[in-house]
Amino acid sequence: MEERGRQTNQSFNDDSSEELDNSFDETWIESYCSLDGNEFLCEVDQNFISDEFNLYGLRAFIEHYEQALDIISSKTKIQSYDKNIRGQLIIETKLLYGLIHQRFIVTGSGLKRMYEKFRRGEFGACPRVLCDNHAVLPIGTSNIPYLSKTKLFCPRCGEIYSIPDGCCGSNLDGAYFGMTFPHLLMLNVSGIKKADKFKPTIFGFEIASSSAPSGRYNPTRDSFFVVKN
Ligand SMILES: [Zn+2]
Repeated sequence: MEERGRQTNQSFNDDSSEELDNSFDETWIESYCSLDGNEFLCEVDQNFISDEFNLYGLRAFIEHYEQALDIISSKTKIQSYDKNIRGQLIIETKLLYGLIHQRFIVTGSGLKRMYEKFRRGEFGACPRVLCDNHAVLPIGTSNIPYLSKTKLFCPRCGEIYSIPDGCCGSNLDGAYFGMTFPHLLMLNVSGIKKADKFKPTIFGFEIASSSAPSGRYNPTRDSFFVVKN
């Protein structure tokens, strides 16, 4: 839960230019992924970005596509562009990287990189009591940008949880991870135990199902994190 509890002051689609001043010979990708709140992101291989096939269709989402791609590839810096478009360009560069990231993390290299973060518990843990702090994965409820923020998927109980505002990952667009990634990763990971079902008892006797609480009430879940329909 350490990651989820981390506070960040980065706003959604923040257009501050200072944070992207990748000095000290850092690449733009290294600089962006190391910002507070971006810890869920992995570094996309430059080889993946250089292959136009992998970026097919993304141009439609980005007005200054070529410029944003050059910044991501560290061929140019944001400071080399006209002040009037810098704010917009920063937003578009982040968005382009996020959409490339969505595609990269379902490749072999990307899955491996994200699995290491999952194994180290970098995405946090499930709040459901019976999941026993099982590690969770970031997920988007849409592959299209601006429709949802990043949420957390628990492979044990199969639930999706909202990230409280201000916590790590809460500022990232859900499209940066997309809908497929956690399920694809789980196909490659064995040994995940299915969640136990809560069984209410009275004096040690199991309650008949016809008498059990009805509706959506579930005493084992922290409703604060549950996605509301
Ligand atoms: Zn769970």
